[in-house]
Amino acid sequence: TYVVTDACIRCKFTDCVSVCPVDCFYEGENMLVIHPDECIDCGVCEPECPADAIRADTEPGMENWLELNRKFSGLW
Ligand code: SF4
Repeated sequence: TYVVTDACIRCKFTDCVSVCPVDCFYEGENMLVIHPDECIDCGVCEPECPADAIRADTEPGMENWLELNRKFSGLW
């Protein structure tokens, strides 16, 4: 899955939401998040993010962001 990280905080762009084929972005407290069970790992959103906030969860150090994305997707 892909995850949204802190560069998204208070970002006003929604380019990622527009391109996601499965509509799996949700609004967190002050940033967007990706629902980890709905994301199909297509990678389309990553280059679209003007804040460079979207990362593959396979990158190092993404565990906490994955949990936060899970939380704000309503999974806790
Ligand atoms: Fe949506 Fe694809 Fe980005 Fe996952 S990787 S959030 S499915 S655009």
